[in-house]
Amino acid sequence: MLHEDTLSDSVLRPTFITVDLPALSKNFDAINQYAGSSKVMYILKANAYGHGLIKIAKHLESLGAYYFGVAYLEEGIMLREAGIRTPILVLGGIIGNQIPLFLEHDLTITASSIEKLKQIEYAAKRRGVIAKAHLKIDTGMERIGMHYYSAHSLLEASLKCEHTNIEGIFTHFANADEADDAYTSIQVDRFEKVLAFYESKNVKRPLVHASNSGGMLQHSTHSYDMARVGLLLYGVYPNDHFKELIKVKPVMSWKTHVVFFKVIQKDHPVSYGSTWQSDHQTRIITLPVGYGDGYMRAMSNKAKIIVRGVKHEQVGHICMDQMMINIDDGTAYNGDEVILIGQDGKEEITIEDLADWAQTIPYEILTNINTRVPRVYIE
Ligand SMILES: *Cc1c(COP(=O)(O)O)cnc(C)c1O
Repeated sequence: MLHEDTLSDSVLRPTFITVDLPALSKNFDAINQYAGSSKVMYILKANAYGHGLIKIAKHLESLGAYYFGVAYLEEGIMLREAGIRTPILVLGGIIGNQIPLFLEHDLTITASSIEKLKQIEYAAKRRGVIAKAHLKIDTGMERIGMHYYSAHSLLEASLKCEHTNIEGIFTHFANADEADDAYTSIQVDRFEKVLAFYESKNVKRPLVHASNSGGMLQHSTHSYDMARVGLLLYGVYPNDHFKELIKVKPVMSWKTHVVFFKVIQKDHPVSYGSTWQSDHQTRIITLPVGYGDGYMRAMSNKAKIIVRGVKHEQVGHICMDQMMINIDDGTAYNGDEVILIGQDGKEEITIEDLADWAQTIPYEILTNINTRVPRVYIE
């Protein structure tokens, strides 16, 4: 069933994303089952990978999600302001003057150095509250976090905290999407050596987490106490070879409608730069969607769409707000529904297909879909 508010959006704009919440529920169940005794943190950064931050969070909260992860402070604040009560870890790096906002909104902070941990302690003490933090260890990503070979001092410092609850400790894998898990194994070894600190000090280990979707699928032991799952939740595989391991279903479809039909003569080039022309008379339809919506220009002359159950090729450069399709001697009428991502009968176009055409990864396809494209939620 469609929401009235979003339905009217979809009439205003004939291009829209549909988000299949029952499919999201099924993926949630499949992932929880796969994770076994490990908990799952569901990753909602970048507008829930394009699916709509608040809607997705509310749905997952109603299913009983254990933890949420976002990239930035403001994403966490948006969730709290929408009434989300589930714990939220902000995964990204922090700047000192942001800390009071973390505390105010009960957001868990990533402590990625001794300096940052001290800032957290200080801010919590001043406010008279207990901050919640997870220590970030860099085992080979070279992004944020304390290097594994000097992490001992961070862990040492964390034991002295009086105003910060060190709830967790984590690392991030650089090559977990690949079939070859050699580099992940190196990172796991490094992480294990860091974690040995707790046993040596005879103190209880906080919540340990390391895996993203790929890491969880690469090896069950990589999930530790909690896996951090993003892409897979939305029904997209980080890599095809994971498909046998777990069954998830795409949550997003992307549709538009034909706004124009014309017949063009042979040797009459189509669109900016005249990159495509036909050697025979052909039928061309125009769609009201373009790179300004996130349908990436890099897919020009490679992408395909489905209309009336048949796949056709996009031709000429994709424009900001429109693009053209060669239907040859096929049939399409003004107003016909067009599938950009999704299924129509036997034909299907996947997010992975778009990533191939744009020579990028599914993550970028999802997070590039502009907010001007309305999201319609199937309950
Ligand atoms: C984005 C992110 C994840 C989730 O990654 P997926 O591959 O989408 O599962 C996990 N951990 C961190 C630190 C991230 O930034």
